[in-house]
Amino acid sequence: MTPSETVVLTRYVKALFPHQQIDEYTPDAWHDALADIDAFDARTAVADLAKSCRFIGPADIVSRVRAIRNERLSRTPLPPPPPDARDYQRQLQESIRRIADGKQVSAIGGGRRGSQPSAEYRAARTQGSRDAADALAAALTVPCPALGCGAQAGARCVSSTSGRPLGRGFHPTRLDRAVQQSGGVA
Ligand SMILES: [Zn+2]
Repeated sequence: MTPSETVVLTRYVKALFPHQQIDEYTPDAWHDALADIDAFDARTAVADLAKSCRFIGPADIVSRVRAIRNERLSRTPLPPPPPDARDYQRQLQESIRRIADGKQVSAIGGGRRGSQPSAEYRAARTQGSRDAADALAAALTVPCPALGCGAQAGARCVSSTSGRPLGRGFHPTRLDRAVQQSGGVA
């Protein structure tokens, strides 16, 4: 939060904690401790603490903010990144941060699939960072279970509608199968 947000916060603290010592130096000092904290989170934390404490300091706010953010994370299932995301780790971090901030994360892949990470995501998560070529190699170790495809192990998938090779080389469900068979399911 910014220095001016810290000034507002200390006024809020003074209003809620009349016995709290707040002087002209308090905002500066508190800002040093609270610079990394989101202003809205800090205000929420202060309001929470006012229900049970008569005095608070920056350390109380920081630890309460941490609890608030963890609670948001535990309430919200983490959506999988889009199936083709090659920068899934960045997207995953972004999702985690947005959930902790209390912002809604768009349900990528639709609704209830939020609790079912995509095959690519699972593969990435269980087997570490792998690029598209690694994913293809993994998928090709098993026959494709996709309806209308039937590609044998070692052969690339073809589109069931056009009969042409898939651009990515495999159906997503095939990588899913390969990950399952390698015992790497998260
Ligand atoms: Zn296939």
